[in-house]
Amino acid sequence: MKTGTEKKDIRSLYPEELAEWILSKGEKPYRAGQIFQWLHKSQVLNPEEMSNVPKSLKQELEQDFACSTLREELRQESKLDETKKFLFELSDGNMIESVFMKYRSWNSVCISSQAGCNMGCSFCASTIGGLSRDLTAGEMLLQVYEIQKLLSEKISRIVVMGSGEPLENYDNLLRFLRLVNHRDGQDISMRNITVSTCGIVEKIEELAGEDLSINLAISLHAATDEKRKKIMPVAMRYGLKDLIAACRRYFERTGRQLTFEYALIDGFNNTSEDVHSLLRLLEGLNCVVNLIPVNPVRDRAFKEPGSRAVREFKAELERHALNVTVRREMGRDIDGACGQLRARKAKKL
Ligand code: SAH
Repeated sequence: MKTGTEKKDIRSLYPEELAEWILSKGEKPYRAGQIFQWLHKSQVLNPEEMSNVPKSLKQELEQDFACSTLREELRQESKLDETKKFLFELSDGNMIESVFMKYRSWNSVCISSQAGCNMGCSFCASTIGGLSRDLTAGEMLLQVYEIQKLLSEKISRIVVMGSGEPLENYDNLLRFLRLVNHRDGQDISMRNITVSTCGIVEKIEELAGEDLSINLAISLHAATDEKRKKIMPVAMRYGLKDLIAACRRYFERTGRQLTFEYALIDGFNNTSEDVHSLLRLLEGLNCVVNLIPVNPVRDRAFKEPGSRAVREFKAELERHALNVTVRREMGRDIDGACGQLRARKAKKL
């Protein structure tokens, strides 16, 4: 089967779109359901494997659609926990990373939404080398399907926190969410999916109107515009006032509690002044602050605070009744942070 951008990725189609195509070919409508289940429930990699679909129809499928692929290029397995990190090659040679994480009662994957990233956050490895391209919905799904197959494990939670800015690839992200949630596919509950964004304000507004019960996480990392601009170029586009206003509306519309991610960088954003800015900023908002000791990847200027400083920062926020969690570090020994493996492979790190 040919792959390429000129043809639509068959795995990105909604069942209704497949049905429309089936009808245009003069085939029986129930074939669309069969094909959808092969792709999303049985997770076949290639239409050839759809044993109850007539050969002529399979040939037509191959003629009209592309079928994205993922090839495992590298795998790193943590010795500290059961975290496994995959470097996958896409059909066009681009590389992406996905991470499998095992918790006590569920398995989770962290997927990429773009190959590379354009956001330029100064502490993040995914953005080294810029954006190569958006992933299709099918390529986001494949990360889940491939890992399930490779590890013979069932995945029930997904975090869209790998490389890329998901809200800059909005239409494909929405397709991905609806497809992975589809009852004829993997049927993963929206409540078990978290999308993380650096804060694309108009897209947060749009997402609020989509009637999805996903979890939204906002990468905040600093509580004043001045500070945020130093580490996140997106802060030049959107001020914190507008970002937080969009978050308030998001909560009002969806009733879903927001998470704010805050990478603690020693001496930069972990002073008591930062605590107070953060408290002022998030006042009255139903949210959780997730503290992440920064993973030093590029610049030695980004140092993580010691565990005592992390505890103190957390305690001070909690004294003011903020909900705070500290991210459990998984796979720290295997380049756990976004984009490190890919950048290393491309010799950019
Ligand atoms: N573009 C999206 C999702 C990808 S990054 C976003 O910005 O949210 C997922 C999370 O990891 C983000 O909160 C990001 O800021 C954080 N992150 C990236 N590099 C990191 C590092 N070196 N240490 C700690 N957190 C990091």
